[in-house]
Amino acid sequence: MTTQATTTPVIARTRDELREARTHLTGQTAVVMTMGALHEGHATLIREARKDAEHVIVTIFLNPLQFGPKEDLSKYPRTFDSDLEICREHGVDLVFAPTPDVVYPDGDPGVRISAGPLGDVLEGQSRPGHFDGMLTVVAKLMHLTRGDAFYFGQKDAQQLLLIRRMVRDIDFPARVVSVPTVREEDGLAMSSRNTYLTDSDREVALCLSRALTAGAAAAIEGPSAVRRAARAVLVREPLALIDYLVLVHPTTLQDVPEWYRGEALLAVAGRMGTTRLIDNTPVVIGPGGGRREIFSETVEPV
Ligand code: AMP
Repeated sequence: MTTQATTTPVIARTRDELREARTHLTGQTAVVMTMGALHEGHATLIREARKDAEHVIVTIFLNPLQFGPKEDLSKYPRTFDSDLEICREHGVDLVFAPTPDVVYPDGDPGVRISAGPLGDVLEGQSRPGHFDGMLTVVAKLMHLTRGDAFYFGQKDAQQLLLIRRMVRDIDFPARVVSVPTVREEDGLAMSSRNTYLTDSDREVALCLSRALTAGAAAAIEGPSAVRRAARAVLVREPLALIDYLVLVHPTTLQDVPEWYRGEALLAVAGRMGTTRLIDNTPVVIGPGGGRREIFSETVEPV
């Protein structure tokens, strides 16, 4: 059993406090960016980060730029004390928890990172501007924290892809590490938004992960079998309002054609009551295929 450091992390709320605290972290430093309301998914990212780096910084910032006007920014769960406790239990060195005026001292930034066409599909179609806002804050937090490596969850597959693309396309000196989706025992992907679910919504929400499991089980037979198997689960749950169920190439996010064999992303989004949830699983289509935890590092375009 490994012993865990339980020193209370330094809390930085301003740029000056962050700069000062950062000068004491002299070794390799890994960063986990969050919007707070930490759960076991976030804790897993922190543990992975700790394995690889001498120091870990966790950022807690509810980024207004990535929420649409009709989205849940005002009711998003805020649980700073228990977030800090999780950070303490996991030996986090530094928590950067700024307010929006610290991150955006001049108000909404006129210059932003554009996600490009990959930001317009899937989640981007339901949430216009979301990925530009997300990439802008990720870029800023990369600069402010000056991390060597940044840990992100496979749970947000399109976000992860876009961050990788940003780092590659505009040459950020950063290493991006992906961590498999952490699930509840019954399969529901952990999410801060799960706290919105009523007991019956939560029961309905299980159709998302079940659809992914059913789809992945058909991966040997090819794309249409995957889509058919996943859809068959979703249609049995009329209370889930499905936004999309797709089987796409993991780097182009284009639907894979029927002849396609190799790595693909099976992704779903839907609304249970008033709560919108997303889930996905990497799958390999074709002989020896099936569910994967995570993609291999390099995936060639179709
Ligand atoms: P959030 O606080 O929801 O913005 O998430 C912060 C980070 O935690 C992102 O990189 C997410 O992909 C990751 N994350 C959230 N939920 C999970 C989960 N269930 N499993 C793995 N990573 C997760």
